[in-house]
Order: sequence, then C-alpha cells, then structure tokens
Amino acid sequence: MTPSNVEQFWEAVQKRDSGADGTFYYGVVTTGVFCRPGCPGRTPNRENVRFYTTPADAERDGLRACLRCRPLALTGADPWADRIAGLVRYIERHAGEAISLADLSREAGLSPYHLQRSFRAILGVTPKQYLDNQRVEQFKASLRNDTGRDVTAAIYDAGYGSSSRLYEKADTRLGMTPMEYRSGGRGIEITHTAVETRLGWMVLGATDRGLCFLQFGDEPGALRTAMFAEYPEARFSSMPEPAPVDFEAWMARLHRYLDGQERDLRLPVHVSATAFQLKVWRYLQSIPSGSVQSYSEVAQGIGQPTAVRAVASACAGNRVALAIPCHRVIRGSGELGGYRWGLERKRVLIDTERRVA
Ligand SMILES: [Zn+2]
Repeated sequence: MTPSNVEQFWEAVQKRDSGADGTFYYGVVTTGVFCRPGCPGRTPNRENVRFYTTPADAERDGLRACLRCRPLALTGADPWADRIAGLVRYIERHAGEAISLADLSREAGLSPYHLQRSFRAILGVTPKQYLDNQRVEQFKASLRNDTGRDVTAAIYDAGYGSSSRLYEKADTRLGMTPMEYRSGGRGIEITHTAVETRLGWMVLGATDRGLCFLQFGDEPGALRTAMFAEYPEARFSSMPEPAPVDFEAWMARLHRYLDGQERDLRLPVHVSATAFQLKVWRYLQSIPSGSVQSYSEVAQGIGQPTAVRAVASACAGNRVALAIPCHRVIRGSGELGGYRWGLERKRVLIDTERRVA
C-alpha cells in the first residue's frame, strides 16, 4: 500500500464511493469495526482509520465486520446479504416504531420464512432479536443521556408499547432491570455474608442472579457498611444457615481459587454499571488467569485506545473483586499500579495465578 493509494482510499471513504467497494476496506480503531468504502455510516476521523486490502487483514487486526455495510458480503458468500444489510438499516431507523415481521418481509422483498432464515444465517440472530436489541440499545442510550428522565417515557420512546415487555428483555440483556440500572438497587434483594480467607476478611453480597459485591478488608463491619452504601435502596438479609447449594458451590470454588488449587474463578456477576464499565469489566474477564495487561492494552482491547484513564477508573470502580479480575491490570512500566484492596493482595493474587498457570 503506497502513500498515494492511501490518499485515494481516504478520498473514496469521504465520498462513500461504492464504486470502490471490493478494492479495499477501512477499519475504525475507535469503534472496532471495518467497512466497505461505500458504507452509509458516519465518516470517521482520519486519524482513527486504517486501510486493508482484504477483510481477513482487518479481522487479524482485531476488527469486526460492520453490520450496516456488511463488507464480508463482497466476498460473495451470501446472495441475500445485500438485502439483509438494507433491512438492518431499516430496523435501525425504525426501531422506535411498531414493526412486524410482515413489515420487514415486505421491506426486504422476501417471504417471512426466507427472511427469518437468511437473516439468522447472516447475523446469527432473528430479525425480532435484532430489533429488540436495537430497542434496548436506544433505551439505554436515552437513560444515560438524560439521568433525570422518566423511565416510562424512555420506554415509549424506544418503541415499547408496554413497559413489562421491555422489563423482560432488559433483564436478560443488561443483567439488570431499568429501575435497578438507575436507582441504586431499588427492588433487588441482596443476601450477604462475611468469610475469613488467606487474604483477610471478605464480604460477599449476592442477588438471585450473581455476585453484586465482593470486597476485602481487615474487618467485616466496615465492608458491610460499604456494601449498604453501594446499594442504598436494596433490601439486605444475612445468608441463611445452611446457605443455598449454589452459594456453597461458589464459596468452595472461591477458596480453591485463593489457595491456588483452581486456575480461574468464573462466578456469575450481577452488578449495576454504566455501559463503559460493563465493556471494560467484560474485557477484564477475558484476560487469562496468570497473565496481566497494562491499562493501555485494555483500552486498545476494547477498541478505545485513547480511553486509558477512563479504563483505569473503571478498574478502580470495580465492586466485585476476583470475579471481575481487575488485579490483572498493571501499569505499562511493569509496576503493579493501584488496587482498591491493597497492593499486597494484588501481588499475592498475581503470584498465585502465575504459579497455577
Ligand atoms: Zn460500514
């Protein structure tokens, strides 16, 4: 790729020149997506754009195919891909309205049966799931953009006729209901307990869906106070004796992990968070036990390479130690960096994981 090629490529991207489709692809590092030149999406900033000669090159660079322009369809894999790509744009524009499968099939010029089948084959979800997902995304965006906003109004704006339908969806999609998302845990029940481990006292809080609090300290009282403050509106109760079977199993895994008998700790997490925190925390869960990454590697990993400081503060804001392994992130210099629960604990955790790995 010569400099003059790159100039031409950038010109084609700015003009959304679909005549250049197939000659090259461009990726946008800030969104983690790659496109064909004719993509109808917003023109990215030049400094965030990288050019590729094949989709495979872009994928090797960690980018995924844009859902709007479907660059992979250019490789000729699926005859329906263009129509489905058009349909995706239609859904994005009209997610706030009542859309039926019949509307979509008319729009695509495909029978409902073919529509369902090819949509699923190309995107991995049904049109209905894609639409629901769009609505949840738009709903989340509207809550985040205006924190004083009435949840019911946001529900109607996102195209949900009745609030109960969104509550069902959002519960599986966000890991929390819209009210919980906004309200400091109102309406959720948290069962909690304190245990002594080789790293000191630990207080755990769990909803019926996963851990919402796991923190270390020198004595349980202060930790409990911190937990109550994190979820001021939740209802708390002490863990019953004997504890539920699931919880006993989590605890057994936790002790094995801390003692270096189990390599990784995968426990269900149910925690309220901003979209950005969720993105960082999910990424942290993908860092293998026994290895560490720097804050800037994490920022690159989530496709937002300039967000290093935001990544550091998302790590510092973690409320569920170990299950969201923020201890696997260190400074670029190789120093340990900070840890909410003390550097000595961070050092022990990293050492233990290395030994087991
Ligand atoms: Zn695109």
